[in-house]
Amino acid sequence: MGRLRIQSLFSQGQAGQSVTVCGWVRSKRESKGIAFIALSDGSTQDTLQLVIPSESSAFHELPGCNTGAAIKASGIIRESPGKGQQFEIEVSTLAVMGNADSEHYPLQKKGHSLEFLRDIGHLRPRTNTFGAVLRVRNVLSQAVHEFFQSRGFIWIHTPIITSSDCEGAGDLFTVTSLDPGEIKKGDRDTFDYSQDFFGKRAYLTVSGQLEAEFLALSMGDVYTFGPTFRAENSNTSRHLSEFWMIEPEMAFADLNDDTSLAEQFIHFLCKRTVESCPDEIQFFEKFYKNTSIRELEALSEKKFARISYTEAIDELKKSGRKFEFPVEWGLDLQSEHERYLTDDVFQGPVTVTDYPKDIKAFYMRLNDDDRTVAAMDVLVPKIGEIIGGSQREERLDVLEARLQQAGIPLESIDWYLDLRRFGSAPHAGFGLGFERFVQYVTGMSNIRDVIPCPRAPHTIKF
Ligand code: ATP
Ligand code: MG
Repeated sequence: MGRLRIQSLFSQGQAGQSVTVCGWVRSKRESKGIAFIALSDGSTQDTLQLVIPSESSAFHELPGCNTGAAIKASGIIRESPGKGQQFEIEVSTLAVMGNADSEHYPLQKKGHSLEFLRDIGHLRPRTNTFGAVLRVRNVLSQAVHEFFQSRGFIWIHTPIITSSDCEGAGDLFTVTSLDPGEIKKGDRDTFDYSQDFFGKRAYLTVSGQLEAEFLALSMGDVYTFGPTFRAENSNTSRHLSEFWMIEPEMAFADLNDDTSLAEQFIHFLCKRTVESCPDEIQFFEKFYKNTSIRELEALSEKKFARISYTEAIDELKKSGRKFEFPVEWGLDLQSEHERYLTDDVFQGPVTVTDYPKDIKAFYMRLNDDDRTVAAMDVLVPKIGEIIGGSQREERLDVLEARLQQAGIPLESIDWYLDLRRFGSAPHAGFGLGFERFVQYVTGMSNIRDVIPCPRAPHTIKF
């Protein structure tokens, strides 16, 4: 159609140039024989002002240009006399491609609630908020690759369907080709899956880590970026049943290398957001007041505080705060505890290291104290955990003992043990929840509002 995207028009257009633009009408107004349409095409935060003089034949098309209608307009780029925008279009021809019945189009007014918009997931990307979120997601996705590629990491693709169930990362979705009636209710865990498609029980992956480990132990430094699935029944503002995770894994690396990679990664992503999405961040700053360019700039350099789990427990105990959940060495940190550390104690990101072995997964490297493991979580203000990582246990005997304690049969994970038999090496990695990071930079308070199609218990319509 030879259309020019509004983003390109604002960044590269020239006054006097003839152009064709397409998009959806945000609003229309008429005054003294001249009409104005605010047009959006998703490519940028700004709408483009179309000016339609009454003497133009385009004027006759105006009745079809209701809010929500898809239109095509051709005309000349003019310097805009109004504030805020450099250009507008003086329209000569206008065509309505798809009209939108003004009685039924749900996005008539400005400022719908986020709850209301969740019910119209197919139309919400047309709003300023969701357009901004999706463009930030796009920039961040690209930045993830840029960060790792520029450091020589190899992008590997770990599977979505997997047979490993011993991650301990939450409940798994079973993948089966059997009829539901064949696996009788209640028998799901004892059922003989040898008759099933793969000849054994299969799941949607909760993490690509185990596979990333064997790829790191052959390719050096690798990363995955893909969807992961957790059937946890947690209706919180930071859990989804399907979310995207970035998981780097480095051979010949320890916990220090891991925490420093995590810090550099977050710095880089914050910097890229500020550079590439200033309009979007300004929008969030203005309307949601939970983020700002200044804050993100500061975050792109700020050194993360670092404390051990044991020190974190002491800090929480001496706070004198009444927490809902108990604070005791050996218990996991709850979100309220994490928030106290980030928001009150450190007022910024904190890396907590060396958690008790009993609350962490079997593959995390046992420390010399025999009570803690070389784990690290990165916590950020308002959200809590965004990264979970560790140095992995590379010693065969220690790993076997940990598996036995966890009640995981050694033969079920023989290939993983092989990596410790043949050319084992220290290695470490982490997982960053992509949606939590998008929440962090946009300030969106609910994780369901930073992904086009959120999956959560009883939520799958769009
Ligand atoms: P949480 O304690 O918040 O449930 P977790 O300890 O289960 O997190 P990990 O298994 O370490 O998380 O996963 C790595 C990262 O993936 C987390 O730091 C978080 O950013 C993200 N993440 C985990 N579970 C979810 C989820 N259900 N929805 C969205 N992101 C998630
Ligand atoms: Mg969890």
